[in-house]
Amino acid sequence: AALYKIDGWGAPYFSVNSSGNISVRPHGSETLAHQEIDLLKIVKKVSDPKFLGGLGLQLPLIVRLPDVLKNRLESLNSAFEFAIQSQCYESHYQGVYPVKCNQDRFVVEDIVKFGSSFRFGLEAGSKPELLLAMSCLCKGNPEALLVCNGFKDSEYISLALVARKLALNTVIVLEQEEELDLVIDLSKKLCIRPVIGIRAKLRTRHSGHFGSTSGEKGKFGLNTTQIVRVVRKLEQAGMLDCLQLLHFHIGSQIPSTTLLADGVGEAAQVYCELVRLGAHMQVIDIGGGLGIDYDGSKSSESDISVGYSLEEYAAAVVQAIRYVCDRKSIKHPIICSESGRAIVSHHSVLIFEAVSASAYESPTLSSLGLQYLVEGFTEDAGSDYQNLSGAAMRGEYDTCLLYTDKLKQRCVEQFKEGSLSIEQLAAVDGLCDLVCKAIGAADPVRTYHVNLSVFTSIPDLWGIGQLFPIVPIHRLDQRPSVRGTLSDLTCDSDGKVDKFIGGESSLPLHELEGEGGGGDRYYLGMFLGGAYEEALGGVHNLFGAPSVVRVSQSDGPHSFAVTRAVPGPSSADVLRVMQHEPELMFQALKHRAEECGQDDGLANAAALASSLAHSFNNMPYLVAASSCCMTAMN
Ligand code: PLP
Repeated sequence: AALYKIDGWGAPYFSVNSSGNISVRPHGSETLAHQEIDLLKIVKKVSDPKFLGGLGLQLPLIVRLPDVLKNRLESLNSAFEFAIQSQCYESHYQGVYPVKCNQDRFVVEDIVKFGSSFRFGLEAGSKPELLLAMSCLCKGNPEALLVCNGFKDSEYISLALVARKLALNTVIVLEQEEELDLVIDLSKKLCIRPVIGIRAKLRTRHSGHFGSTSGEKGKFGLNTTQIVRVVRKLEQAGMLDCLQLLHFHIGSQIPSTTLLADGVGEAAQVYCELVRLGAHMQVIDIGGGLGIDYDGSKSSESDISVGYSLEEYAAAVVQAIRYVCDRKSIKHPIICSESGRAIVSHHSVLIFEAVSASAYESPTLSSLGLQYLVEGFTEDAGSDYQNLSGAAMRGEYDTCLLYTDKLKQRCVEQFKEGSLSIEQLAAVDGLCDLVCKAIGAADPVRTYHVNLSVFTSIPDLWGIGQLFPIVPIHRLDQRPSVRGTLSDLTCDSDGKVDKFIGGESSLPLHELEGEGGGGDRYYLGMFLGGAYEEALGGVHNLFGAPSVVRVSQSDGPHSFAVTRAVPGPSSADVLRVMQHEPELMFQALKHRAEECGQDDGLANAAALASSLAHSFNNMPYLVAASSCCMTAMN
């Protein structure tokens, strides 16, 4: 556990059990020992060919943990409750979940259900997100907010007005000044009184990767001149009472409570000014930004960690708002936050398999013999060889490295000219590897090939270099003997993981057992990826989404219930995404199989067609040799 810093990033949800496997503590720190769930047991159960009447899910696999989601919501709410009580704050907290972080139907439905008792609502940033938020909130607490952010056209605004008509507590947040005219016109036309919010562009700037949203040059929000103009216009339209919410968003992963308090304090001043100007302000919406400690370092210096706890975050927000409002004698507003990452990151684990590893070949001297080799060298290569031999005898590390490089380079040049054979070039490579090994300079890092697409399942790793904890989910009672990087299935050299938390360029890994079938499988987990990764992922090389299971803790020691199991998209499904028509493709190929199979008899054509059908219907990822249909047919 210490090697992978699990206690740092995993607490209170993930730990290592006595079998050396990662177990989930579904209720966080309130989990009792017998309630822990072994991740390996989940994988074994759902990938068993007999699972769900022969469904047997294929990896990669997302394990969703609704109990963890519930615990995250409760923890966030109680952190604010505690801060409000202890600071005698005279209003309450009611958050919203920004659905863009993970729009999965069951994630959003769970959040609405678990958050209902504390008026938890949703935030939408586009028309389809608004539609899903509207339909989910019909089953939620009627006081829950439905915050409408993002760029808006008349259709978006009409939809938000209709949501109000449907008795959903909807707020249209102006991100652009131009949206105001549409809101005024459409609300008059539809005879629906809107509740309006303003997104303020704050001066407080967050300097990390996620901070480009903030500051005067940020993409969204209204500056002070625009805010004043909006207030005047609403006044003229007799609608200033509709302006009730102030929103801002400093950026994701706010590194410290100092920056947070600075931004919240500035926004609270804007809020008080809007009250002074006559708006009927009720809510201050502090946006997202509550950070996640991906590397367990608890440091405000890095983009992937934060220097505060949930409790410290809530305390800083409440204090900053209360301080400003008290000085201006303004009634304390309802506090809303739009935390996404902090709510959904922990609830899902991506599990994938390492299928093979680059073999570590012990370097050997060529059987061609050194004399034969040297005879083929040009004069320069020969003198590099002499220098290398001398340095190797004397054990001069740097000189050896210098001359292995030089010798290799010269021999490659000779090979390109055609004066060195491929056997001779291979012999030079072997000789140089042998010298490197002897002086302790051989690169011991191996490449583990994983049955995964980085582009589909960890897009932020590729796109913005974000790191997530990646750890074997079993064998953690055995010391890993290898260091490795991960290489995915895509035909793309960016499809790799060679940076890991803690600044490491390789990961401690175990030797694969019985490669090529037979032995036990080796499963790795990518943790804290429940936010953003699923929606951002693409279909590079036509690898689609992983299979998904929803797993809850159930009665009985260490038992769990799989409450939902969905195989990942098949090859036919991903082909459809790119406008192909798999049914027509299959028919054309089947026809061809019948033509080509005529000589061998119809049975063979039928077998070809059935193999083609398997290929369309299976997931695009690698299947174990034993379950491959081609092998089965032969
Ligand atoms: N609200 C708005 C307006 C955002 O742009 C974002 C994300 O960038 C969020 C909320 C969610 O932020 P986070 O996931 O950091 O909590």
